[in-house]
Amino acid sequence: MALVNEHFLKLPNNYLFADIAKKVNAFKVTHPKTDVISLGIGDVTQPLCPAVVEAMHKAVDEMGRTASFRGYGPEQGYDFLREAILKNDFLPRGIHLDIDEIFINDGAKSDTGNIQELIRWDNSIGVTDPIYPVYIDSNVMIGRAGVRGDDGRWSNVVYLPCTAENGFVPQIPDDRHVDVIYLCYPNNPTGTVISKKELRKWVNYALKNDTLIFYDAAYQAYITDPDIPHSIYEIRGARKCAIEFHSYSKTAGFTGVRCGYTIVPKELTAATLEGRNIPLNPLWNRRQCTKFNGTSYISQRAAEAIYTPEGKQQVRQTIRYYMQNAHKMLESLRRLGYEVYGGENAPYIWMRVPAGTGSWQFFEQLLYGAGVVCTPGVGFGPSGEGYVRFTAFGSHEATDEALQRIENWTK
Ligand SMILES: *Cc1c(COP(=O)(O)O)cnc(C)c1O
Repeated sequence: MALVNEHFLKLPNNYLFADIAKKVNAFKVTHPKTDVISLGIGDVTQPLCPAVVEAMHKAVDEMGRTASFRGYGPEQGYDFLREAILKNDFLPRGIHLDIDEIFINDGAKSDTGNIQELIRWDNSIGVTDPIYPVYIDSNVMIGRAGVRGDDGRWSNVVYLPCTAENGFVPQIPDDRHVDVIYLCYPNNPTGTVISKKELRKWVNYALKNDTLIFYDAAYQAYITDPDIPHSIYEIRGARKCAIEFHSYSKTAGFTGVRCGYTIVPKELTAATLEGRNIPLNPLWNRRQCTKFNGTSYISQRAAEAIYTPEGKQQVRQTIRYYMQNAHKMLESLRRLGYEVYGGENAPYIWMRVPAGTGSWQFFEQLLYGAGVVCTPGVGFGPSGEGYVRFTAFGSHEATDEALQRIENWTK
């Protein structure tokens, strides 16, 4: 008899964005004349830049000729892309990586979910709260998260609240040791960032306690403030304690192209029960060679094009486009008296809902009152209750219209 992995049954079966879609559809049925504007889901809207499109066309043509056809590529990714990453994303920041420390992936979601295969099932994990749901759910699936309480908290997960009260700076756990900690900066969903000084505290904590840091840098391209680190490896000692994830999804509109990369430094180790330190880089390489056959050649050529002078300039222009939305949203929501955070080095605005209102309640009020969709903060974790998330990924026109409607509705 095939027995099911019952850990899957512990996952709450309501998926945040499916719940939102259901509520929006119910609204549309009863209000067929209102055209709903979504500032909810974290997908981009602007097309791929010309440098990327050209590179993809060229790659397709190569694939269509016997002489230049490519089949399976290296599981770790093609050197042309890994070299471009070294030279452009790390060397200018004084970070010297070895090419074998870079693993090209098909997007950061896969690797942020899969990376936990490298560690035993009984490690304790810590997350900042609210968070990107993949970190916890992927641990639930193998039984590491324990049982889910009525408050939505998992028994084996340490939650580090990030709220307006603590300035969205997670406190280092002093009462309960965590073996693994997930950090995401700039943060989804709050749009807040971490300074070098605060990140250094985490690296020092990790070195002292043999904690492994999973650092999600999916939004690093949105950083404009020079004091905000783009990579955890800007902090001394981080190579001994951190794995870092990058994605081209939000950087260059690759949500449908699929490409990113993961850094597993060679100095990084995890211990056996007997206390022997095992380097994780060869283990991840083994894992990838066994379960992954590489990212498509076309996607990797597309990613390489982002590092050309034209590509860089075009990608920056699209990021600027989204950040103009973010700045307008901050300005306009603030003017209406709302308490808003993020939106300066990240494409997300995190807004406190009026006192006495829940996230879902505000979501419905805004939908029925203004025809605008946001994301209820509580969908990202218990500390997200009392907040909603707006994304800056809409068109200028849709964002302006949404803000106008919110203004009319609020007044
Ligand atoms: C969007 C996002 C990613 C990237 O996902 P892809 O699989 O690369 O599209 C990773 N982490 C966070 C926090 C995100 O919001």
